[in-house]
Amino acid sequence: MRRTIVAGLLASLAFPVLAQTPTDPWHAQGRELLADLIAIPTVTHRTEEVKRSVTYLKGRFEKAGINDVIVKDHDGTQSMIVRWKAAGKPKKKPLLLLGHLDVVEALPTDWSRDPFKLIEEGGYFYGRGAIDMKNGVAAITNTILRLKAEGYKPKRDIIIFFSGDEETSGNGAKRATTEWRSLIDAEYALNADAGGGAKLKGGPMLGFGLQTSEKMYQSFSFEARNPGGHSSRPRPDNAIYDLSDALKRLQAHRFEPMLNDTTRAYFQFRQKGEKGALGDAMRRWLANPADGAAADIVEADPTEVGSTRTRCVATRLEGGHADNALPQLAKATVNCRIFPGVEAKAVMADLQKLAGDKVTVSYIDTATPSPPSPLRPDVVKAYTDQVHKRFPGVDIVPQMSAGATDGLFFRSVGIPVYGVDGAWIVVPDDERAHGRDERIPVEAYYGNLDHWYGLVKAVTG
Ligand SMILES: [Zn+2]
Repeated sequence: MRRTIVAGLLASLAFPVLAQTPTDPWHAQGRELLADLIAIPTVTHRTEEVKRSVTYLKGRFEKAGINDVIVKDHDGTQSMIVRWKAAGKPKKKPLLLLGHLDVVEALPTDWSRDPFKLIEEGGYFYGRGAIDMKNGVAAITNTILRLKAEGYKPKRDIIIFFSGDEETSGNGAKRATTEWRSLIDAEYALNADAGGGAKLKGGPMLGFGLQTSEKMYQSFSFEARNPGGHSSRPRPDNAIYDLSDALKRLQAHRFEPMLNDTTRAYFQFRQKGEKGALGDAMRRWLANPADGAAADIVEADPTEVGSTRTRCVATRLEGGHADNALPQLAKATVNCRIFPGVEAKAVMADLQKLAGDKVTVSYIDTATPSPPSPLRPDVVKAYTDQVHKRFPGVDIVPQMSAGATDGLFFRSVGIPVYGVDGAWIVVPDDERAHGRDERIPVEAYYGNLDHWYGLVKAVTG
């Protein structure tokens, strides 16, 4: 899962774009890595392909002299943990680099090109995983191979964790943060599956997001039961009506608006580019976080949906058992994206109150809490420095994702995670993660190789 840009960046200020010519040998190696990774179709059900991908990368690391590579065979797929030990006795805890090897299915019949062959065309690299996120896996790998070849000596251990099931179960990340904890324990993690920039076609670079926070995913069941009976003799109470009433109340309900460090910084940036009513609402809300009416206006804007609070929405429905019988059961799934720091049980209590006594609310799955990571000045500086090398002065905007990545499992066990990828895309044309003809601008790809190289060096030197 990946959301590269903050939708609201579209409304922001303009900055010039610096051209870049990809000529150096590390770019050539980076291109080769991307081509090789895309050629291995690591889609969900083809777990043998994930294993091939792991074997391929293990080979590249070992060839470079990095031999501490642990392959975990689990849940029908594989994850890998690579450790590059610090020179001497490190004073700092390790740095963790995160990525995932799996991709969402891509049917050749749906694409205008072979999805599992890197194709360079019209200033773009095409292929499944070009942006989500074989580009990031290649950038991290290329960085380590390059630093090693240059004789670099990290002052702290560098650990890489690549999972094989981020797009589906997240079991790799779950296990990494529990049973393999000692192998991945780190001061914090840099995640290549989030962050990044947005640019207008032929226009300015809008800004770069630094992701520090993800909403928590939790589904609930709404269930109404009734003795039922013959449909020729309707009862005053009815499971379908009871459930409908509860869902209509849910539809109208708005949870309490909230700000955290990340979203406050985000809205402070956003309001600068918003002169009208939406900007006024942002300014009122920032000045007075208790101004719920202002927050509601912000939440109602299509670019900001989900950014001001917990949101819950009905997503599935079933009920009744015969056309001529009164329903004995009516049931709905309500999917919530819970604001970081809010407990699932608090949301459940709110939902139960809303649903009333004729409907029972219960958990469907177990959510993993995902506290927001503090805006560490060293990480913010390192990220900003690297982005500004390519795009001087461009805005860096803290970001909360409405969706989730592997990062949330690491946050949940107290390892802060920062989505700091340095690639950028043209919006909205290149927003194709999980979609057809996924692509990344060639210039953005090469720039991201340099970005990760500079970033890792800055935080491990
Ligand atoms: Zn992803």
